[in-house]
Amino acid sequence: MDCVFCSIVAGKIPSTPVYQDDLVYAFPDLHPQAPVHVLIVPREHIRSLDDSDAEKRALLGHLLGSAVEVARQKGLGSGYRVVVNTGENGGQTVDHLHLHLLGGRSMHWPPG
Ligand code: AMP
Ligand code: ZN
Repeated sequence: MDCVFCSIVAGKIPSTPVYQDDLVYAFPDLHPQAPVHVLIVPREHIRSLDDSDAEKRALLGHLLGSAVEVARQKGLGSGYRVVVNTGENGGQTVDHLHLHLLGGRSMHWPPG
């Protein structure tokens, strides 16, 4: 299977680990949209949030908890945003489930 995030998890594509354990891997986004922009992915290939059935619910919680760990590690005490783009209309471009952790600037929407 040709999956860029599986290749990153496997170390075939080099990346800088931000956080990792036996279930998840976190690394900087290639095209950051904020001063802190980290992707948190399950080591296991799951296509999208919509592809995660009941047996994966604990893993989803673990992914979210990992985002909190990274946010604390990055000192994002004043707030941050966690995004999970899902499917074509959701803007998902890489078909391996991932959380975006964005912070380090105001994420207010609409701005102002
Ligand atoms: P999404 O649009 O939610 O599927 O997000 C995919 C994200 O993956 C985008 O923000 C890309 O910048 C990021 N991305 C794609 N390829 C890489 C890569 N090789 N290393 C790090 N981030 C990547
Ligand atoms: Zn994958």
